[in-house]
This record gives sequence, C-alpha cells and structure tokens, in this order.
Amino acid sequence: MDSAEYERKIAARFATFDQDGNGYIDREDFSVAARSVLAEFGVTARSDRGQALFAGAEAFWQGMAGIADVDGDQRVTREEFVTGAAKRLRDNPERFAEIARPFLHAVISVADEDGRGATAQGAQRVMRVLGTPEEVAVQVTAGLPADAAGRISEDVILAAFAGYCGVQAPDA
Ligand code: CA
Ligand code: CA
Repeated sequence: MDSAEYERKIAARFATFDQDGNGYIDREDFSVAARSVLAEFGVTARSDRGQALFAGAEAFWQGMAGIADVDGDQRVTREEFVTGAAKRLRDNPERFAEIARPFLHAVISVADEDGRGATAQGAQRVMRVLGTPEEVAVQVTAGLPADAAGRISEDVILAAFAGYCGVQAPDA
C-alpha cells in the first residue's frame, strides 16, 4: 500500500467514526451512530435493546478516548486518531475488539430481526446506515465465514470490524 492509499483509508476510517462530520470524534458521534442503527431497524431507544446499544456506544467512546484522546479534551482529532487509535488498533487488535464488543454485541442484537444470529446482509445494512460506501460494506462482509444458514458469529464480526479499522501504515 502506498502512502496515498494509506491516507485514503485513514480518512475513510476517521469518517466512519466522525458520524456528524464536524472534524473530530466525540461522544456525540457514538450517540448518532446508535440512533441511526435503531432508526434503521425500527427499534426504540427506550427498549432493552436500545438501552444496551447506547450503553455499548458509551463504553466504546470511553475506550476510544482512553487510547486516542491524548490531550484529554474529550475530542479525538484526526491526528490523535492516526497516532493513537489507528496505530494501537494495528498493534493490538484484540484490545480494540474488547473495547468495541459491547457496542457490536448490541448492534447485532438490534440488526438480528429474527433472533437467529447475524447475517452478512444485516452487517451491510448497518454499515450503509453508518455511511460506509456500498462496495466497502460488501467487500468487508462478503468473505466472512458463516454457518450453513448464513449466520455469522459475534467473534467473526468483531475480528472483521477490528481488521477494517486497523490500517497498516506504508512504512510500518
Ligand atoms: Ca464528530
Ligand atoms: Ca483530544
């Protein structure tokens, strides 16, 4: 990967987290993401699944701030994201996965409309509503291992998400 591609990927990952597009990642972006997912699947914020999603979003934000908000101003700038989050994600994807797990677990439960487990289609719907370009959503989810009924386990989704977020720098 050359440096232009690296910059493009980092910008895309940053945009994924900067849901309201104001140039930094903060708690509000995680709330926006939670609300978007709930609206897409017609689940209310007051429901158990809605409450779990907001709690997961808050935990994810706290974890993100813990690894990336270097100056502690409750905002993660693009520079902090690149030097903090993206690098740490790459060096320690398991740690990142644990930070994201409650949120992803809750997203899966919201998107799992028949209660039988996550599917690639459900994952793509979530990614689309969070602003991921269609071809990227398909690319990330298409090759995921699933059971005979097309159901994808939470661990597989978590690993795919961590892999998507961690970007290898050209000089790494
Ligand atoms: Ca933002
Ligand atoms: Ca900061």
